[in-house]
Amino acid sequence: MAKKQFKAESKRLLDMMIHSIYSQKEIFLRELISNASDAIDKIYYKALTDDTLTFDKDSYYIKVSADKEARTLTITDTGIGMTKEELEQHLGTIAKSGSLAFKSENELKDGHDIIGQFGVGFYSAFMVADVVTVISKALGSDEAYKWESEGADGYKIEPCEKETVGTEIILKIKQNTEDEKYEEYLEEYHLKGIIKKYSDFIRYPIKMDVTGR
Ligand code: ADP
Ligand code: MG
Repeated sequence: MAKKQFKAESKRLLDMMIHSIYSQKEIFLRELISNASDAIDKIYYKALTDDTLTFDKDSYYIKVSADKEARTLTITDTGIGMTKEELEQHLGTIAKSGSLAFKSENELKDGHDIIGQFGVGFYSAFMVADVVTVISKALGSDEAYKWESEGADGYKIEPCEKETVGTEIILKIKQNTEDEKYEEYLEEYHLKGIIKKYSDFIRYPIKMDVTGR
């Protein structure tokens, strides 16, 4: 399947994330957990007005799993999920959405300001991962899709298997460099610290599971 290119503004943001020298790369987890929480909110609000849907509190959660052997960090949610079109729209053209639209070119170049103060969103995953895979099944859909990108050279979308509605974001964590110990993002104590620091207010349970050594 041919790779699709990111839209121009998205590519600019993406490049900034990939080559980021920003010191607080850990905020990627805040961004992904906040997206997971937003996705669960969407199911929650839908259930309020849709009689065929019930919101059973216990079935809605966010899970952070690290596999040290595979070097992957996975953020799973039981939220509303994304259709193929939504994967394409929301993850291919990010600069359009959210806070970034308000930032000027100069502020974008600087990076520090924007990353610290605003949600930079999904692409922040590329600060710590060299491959990002999103597996999602939308509410009301029988099909699941996989979005995958190694960054700058575009992304692929293809059908895949997923039993339950929701989204799984799989980050292939970068190799350590002299300046950055990316492996810390696979350590339970470190992940717990980041979650406590930035995601303490999230109103759905955040589960954790770390395997390998
Ligand atoms: P923002 O959250 O400010 O809209 P993001 O870059 O964080 O921007 O995310 C872009 C969009 O991708 C979201 O608005 C949402 O539509 C979609 N998205 C991202 N993560 C998820 C998820 N886990 N479940 C459902 N949709 C998601
Ligand atoms: Mg977001």
